[in-house]
Amino acid sequence: MSAAPSPVPTPRVAVIGGGQLARMLAQPAIALGVPLRLLAEGPGVSAAQVVVDHTVGDYRDLATLRTATAGCAVVTFDHEHVPTEHLRALEADGVACRPGPGALVHAQDKAVMRARLTAMDVPCPRHVVVASPADVEAFATDVGGFPVVLKTTRGGYDGKGVWVVGSAEGSAEAFAAATAAGVEVLAEEKVDFTRELSALVARSPSGQAAAYPVVQTTQLDGICHEVIAPAPDLDPDLAHEAQQIALRVAAELDVTGILAVELFETVDPATGAGGVLVNELAMRPHNTGHWSQDGAVTSQFENHLRAVLDLPLGDPRPRAPWTVMVNILGGEAEVGSLYAGYPHALARDPRLRVHLYGKDVRPGRKVGHVNAYGEDLDEVLERARHAAAWFRGDLGEDSE
Ligand code: ADP
Repeated sequence: MSAAPSPVPTPRVAVIGGGQLARMLAQPAIALGVPLRLLAEGPGVSAAQVVVDHTVGDYRDLATLRTATAGCAVVTFDHEHVPTEHLRALEADGVACRPGPGALVHAQDKAVMRARLTAMDVPCPRHVVVASPADVEAFATDVGGFPVVLKTTRGGYDGKGVWVVGSAEGSAEAFAAATAAGVEVLAEEKVDFTRELSALVARSPSGQAAAYPVVQTTQLDGICHEVIAPAPDLDPDLAHEAQQIALRVAAELDVTGILAVELFETVDPATGAGGVLVNELAMRPHNTGHWSQDGAVTSQFENHLRAVLDLPLGDPRPRAPWTVMVNILGGEAEVGSLYAGYPHALARDPRLRVHLYGKDVRPGRKVGHVNAYGEDLDEVLERARHAAAWFRGDLGEDSE
């Protein structure tokens, strides 16, 4: 008589950070029956509203991290700010960090990321770490003159921590602003890109990987506004190259979960040849992948969860020819609750998908997004843009 098979316990996944990414990770966790434990930065933040098993505390404190992850098989992240030494300590305790500290540092520190990608021969903008305004001027001379871009190597997001320096006179002021955060500063050539792209892949610890179609992303003031999946009119060879870069980076850096590679598409003025340069890496579900919730067979959130649990990945392919995601950013207009926008938005477009984050509306803050999909790109774009503008309070009654 064979012994009864021992039951496989369902692992619990700890998520550090209670923003909208953790909130949206909860949806496939519910569907797959995987319990989450959340460490939220404050009571009532976006994900704390939906994850019952949560504690409130500071992710920079190791004791808090230990308590929050106790009994969890895996820890993953809503943001990239957990200190590397704490992640190493959790690993030493036997908690699997996915992604691990050795991978995550490339999403935390732009100088480390640039050095590693350059060593891998992955195309990047020309760059150098600068220690003075004179260094900035010398770099500008090397790359053919101003403008150049200064970036804090750590802690930047949504364009905070990025300065375009137009002239030598502006170097000192921009350098002072960039160094105010007390971290190293990177100078980069200002890339004359034709558009921004994003290549998203999911990768599991056992090495399985799934690549989403390359998307076009529109950033305004450093904030993602709109994503079109797949990127319209993208040369198939370039799309393949972008996916290969993302897959190679994921494998070589041993990324587990979602890796988003933000790219600049370029055209060589002399030859007309197209190319891509890597702007930055994110190792978590990413705004440029939100379209996949409604537009792909398996969303980035579900594939992130599957990947960190080392489960087989889901199909990343699109469900429709076109999917458009538009962020709902808090507008200047007084719109009341976002809920008040539902009767019009939902009646106008029964195929619209709305995702709200449970956040207070403040000007410029990401408070939700809409996804629309269909056969005709212009029509899909119009539907998604209209809905986002409606929630933002930018449309009058006459534009219904
Ligand atoms: P963050 O970490 O704040 O998202 P990024 O490095 O992604 O910062 O930069 C934000 C935006 O600034 C990019 O999406 C792009 O529009 C612009 N940008 C960044 N680096 C460059 C560059 N080297 N050349 C031209 N534009 C850039």
